[in-house]
Amino acid sequence: MSAALIEVAGLSKAFAIRGGLFGAVRGAVQAVEDVSFRLDPGEVFGLAGESGSGKSTIARMILGLVKPTSGAILVEGRDFLAERDGRKRSDAVQMVFQNPGSSLNPRRSIGQSIAVPLEARRVARAEVRRRVAALLEQVQLPASFAERYPYELSGGQKQRAAIARALAVEPKLIVLDEPTSALDVSVQAKIIELLEELRARLGLTYIFISHDLSLMRSFASRVGVLYLGRLIETGPTQALFEAPAHPYTRSLIAAVPVVSEAEERMKPREPLIEGEIPNPADRPRGCAFHPRCAHAFAPCPVENPRPAPIGPGHSANCHLWGPRASDAPAYKNAEETPL
Ligand code: SF4
Repeated sequence: MSAALIEVAGLSKAFAIRGGLFGAVRGAVQAVEDVSFRLDPGEVFGLAGESGSGKSTIARMILGLVKPTSGAILVEGRDFLAERDGRKRSDAVQMVFQNPGSSLNPRRSIGQSIAVPLEARRVARAEVRRRVAALLEQVQLPASFAERYPYELSGGQKQRAAIARALAVEPKLIVLDEPTSALDVSVQAKIIELLEELRARLGLTYIFISHDLSLMRSFASRVGVLYLGRLIETGPTQALFEAPAHPYTRSLIAAVPVVSEAEERMKPREPLIEGEIPNPADRPRGCAFHPRCAHAFAPCPVENPRPAPIGPGHSANCHLWGPRASDAPAYKNAEETPL
């Protein structure tokens, strides 16, 4: 096994719920619980899940913006949580946000915005100019865009400028938080193409956060599916999409619109997920998905399933695949396909 670029082990985050006149702690929301994964250099790890599943909290903990309640983050073997120097952290890990407007100051020109991290590192002025031009070229924008302001750019151009800004400190890992969801479909494809080209050329590693499973399938090399703060299935993209094991993943993939009948036939036959995602402050016991799961059986409301092996590098946290699988009842409904 090669050395991991990043290793996340048992990462958890509970946010206190405060209330009353004096803001006393009334409870806690477990936003992320016991999340572990490792990424080899050059991988694209997709984190999928509904809103409220913990995707962004994981990203913010990796960036050092939120302190985990417990767990470890190692970057190239170094304890990232113990790193007190924020600049060293941001040299290693950068983020591209959903809304490029949030990383580009409307009062600064594009060149000034891209130059900020370089100036903070005391790069000489002439070198900053040269690097800004080179960064714009890397994201396929003309050097003249350095003089423009965000309001003069289209959404796709702004996202390219935000990517150039993230690249300025030559990070090894970039967290892409829904980087294309604010863009038109045709622009989305071009941004993904650019990100893929940069990854291959610069040897970048990405954590790609998205709720768009079609995009995830075409871009990520490995995928982790989150539900209420827990990773419930992880695997190589092809294996996970062709043979999803967890009922939640199966339902998500079954709900993705496809254009041809052949694709429709290849989708898992799984009932649509009913009901709303539960309030994280009131997480169901056992498997948190059990109130919405068509396959729930005896252990599901009481035992939290551990990861069960499905195939090489592929695991699912579901009792249907673990040591309790033989207790699962026959399917109630002939329309439901056994997993
Ligand atoms: Fe459904 Fe039980 Fe599997 Fe949870 S553990 S997904 S409730 S079958």
